[in-house]
Amino acid sequence: MIQKVAVIGAGTMGNGIAHVFAQSGFTVNLVDIYTAQLEKALHAIAKNLDRQVAKGTLTEAQKKASLDNISIHSDIAAGIKEAELIVEAATENEVLKLKIFRELDEKAPEHCILATNTSSISITKIAAATNRAGKVIGMHFMNPVPVMKLVEIINGYATEKNVTEKIVSLSKQLNKVPCVVNDYPGFIANRVLMPMINEAIYSLHEGVAGIEEIDTIMKLGMAHPMGPLQLADFIGLDVCHSILNVLYTGLGNPKYAPCPLLSNMVTAGYLGVKSGEGFYKYVSGSKELMVSERFVKK
Ligand code: NAD
Repeated sequence: MIQKVAVIGAGTMGNGIAHVFAQSGFTVNLVDIYTAQLEKALHAIAKNLDRQVAKGTLTEAQKKASLDNISIHSDIAAGIKEAELIVEAATENEVLKLKIFRELDEKAPEHCILATNTSSISITKIAAATNRAGKVIGMHFMNPVPVMKLVEIINGYATEKNVTEKIVSLSKQLNKVPCVVNDYPGFIANRVLMPMINEAIYSLHEGVAGIEEIDTIMKLGMAHPMGPLQLADFIGLDVCHSILNVLYTGLGNPKYAPCPLLSNMVTAGYLGVKSGEGFYKYVSGSKELMVSERFVKK
């Protein structure tokens, strides 16, 4: 039975992953190269747990127990030395992830399973950087982790069957719904989602409809909680662009090539929520959704 977990990377996803493991009673070592990022993550976790207490889905005592389950480390070796499972959620960069996995393989206990939360990098390639490819697996949580029920579990080419079974049962312990898929570019979530987002951008680019029309049609017509252009802003246009390129090069089919409008927006630094403007404009403190002036017909 897995009890001791280490999470590498304390950013958006890392803090959410640490939160759900800690809330389910696991001991969590949260590791990041930046101490300030670790402090920020602990603060975010406490705030998100407070929200659950306010909603009545968690007691004060459960909140305290969850926080007590988490310790923070800026030294990777110290953070992973007793881990039975490591979930890597560091920056999406292949060179960095291969380096981290080499180090994890070298310093983690021999029986430890190494999982990655990557959105788009090949699990098989990450596994090949280690001497325990059978124990490497994709564990793709969705953002925001404490809220979203899905865990897309990705089998690398060499992942052992008993490792997949352990991760499936562990995901259920986290009160998540696991779905097992095989390792091909974009897995399933992004292979299906990103072409839809790209097609929405193409429709805008070709003047078929405006931003509000495209998003409203998909929200009201398909019961999507968020339109594809708003969702692209939320994910980050740079992230969407990079995943489309992974699909395009990995599957060799031009249908995945990013729309030139998306490429231009990324090059110009219009990245969505994180940069303050994408298809919509984001004003701090305001919840109103305003179409970016660049797309308003004059
Ligand atoms: P982020 O930029 O918010 O956080 C990344 C963290 O990794 C940072 O705190 C950084 O300091 C840390 N880091 C970098 N190098 C490190 C190292 N060598 N050791 C330890 N920590 C290190 O990124 P994120 O959005 O949380 O994404 C993390 C992973 O999750 C990526 O692989 C991404 O593709 C995947 N993912 C992201 C989302 C999302 O919506 N943000 C959704 C699903 C999956």
